[in-house]
Amino acid sequence: MPEAKQRELDLSEFPPGTVTEYTTLVCLACIFDIFTRQLNLAPRTAFSEIKRHTPTIAELTSPGAMRPYFDSEEKHPHCPYCGSAKRWLARFDTYCIEGGKTTDAARRQLLRKLPKAEDQFVMLEKKSDSRAVFFEWLDTLGLNLDFDDETWLIDATRQYLARREPKTNWGEIFEEVQAVRRSSRISEGWERDGARLFLAPHLYSEAILIQYLVSRSHAHGGLTLDGRLTLMELVRRLRYSGYLERIGVNEQDLGEVFERVVDHLAATHEWSSDPYGTARGSERVSGAAKKTVRTGSGSDRVEVAKQSSKKSSKSRKSKTAAPEPEVITTEPVKLHYVIDRRDFLEKAKSVYASYAS
Ligand SMILES: [Zn+2]
Repeated sequence: MPEAKQRELDLSEFPPGTVTEYTTLVCLACIFDIFTRQLNLAPRTAFSEIKRHTPTIAELTSPGAMRPYFDSEEKHPHCPYCGSAKRWLARFDTYCIEGGKTTDAARRQLLRKLPKAEDQFVMLEKKSDSRAVFFEWLDTLGLNLDFDDETWLIDATRQYLARREPKTNWGEIFEEVQAVRRSSRISEGWERDGARLFLAPHLYSEAILIQYLVSRSHAHGGLTLDGRLTLMELVRRLRYSGYLERIGVNEQDLGEVFERVVDHLAATHEWSSDPYGTARGSERVSGAAKKTVRTGSGSDRVEVAKQSSKKSSKSRKSKTAAPEPEVITTEPVKLHYVIDRRDFLEKAKSVYASYAS
């Protein structure tokens, strides 16, 4: 269908993983039924009401749609509520764009190009935070991986690196990669040796973490390049590899460590300007200062290790002089929804025409 093809928005300017697409079908027979029978409106009035209608973000994006909305993977879907066929069904395409430095320019450019008339596109905004966005990203990643095929581990690694460092052409780098290993040579970045990709230890740790997180609902524990791991095994690995120390996580309690690590990973969507997180600091989170919690580690980490887990920042803060890793809890993130109503408007018109005649 070339017609449908033309309708696709050009999202190529957005870094990978920053735009999520949703499609929801709506049954116009059901909508007209609600307006004309239940609300007793004349068809003409119903039509003008319907034309103005835009579903809520929840209706457009949540998996369990309710009448008159539904989701279908079928090529020739029918309304699950009234059985209506294709000509009665319209689709809403929704694009959720993560706000932030890496997407703002591309988003403005996209909005300028969209047709303005008749509310063919509607823009909505929602406040969210880095943690929610991260889990949304993980969900989407999980849906697109085939856990029965072991190469998913490499795919997940590639997706994670693309999210972390969007300016690199990972597709090309991964073309021949058949194995991902922890490097014992390099301390930052990555290097490829034929079919093997070597990651600096902390990058490798994060790849393992992503694999754990994305597979834990499919497996008992999580599946990773290092094999099947329970949460305790995972955290132990992160501790001994020096990863926890590197990111300034001093907690001992398993659950607390996990929370902190997740927050750290969730914040990485802003790392594109600073691929390896070497210049951690105020610049990256300046817009989010209110929710940022700084705690020290670094130079006095030996002392910290001896402390009990809860006793934290105050005593250390005053002493820290050396550059310190910054611990981020959550950052506010604005989500921008672009809702494509074109199909809905067209179908509503043609359905109304058949009603009125
Ligand atoms: Zn229906």
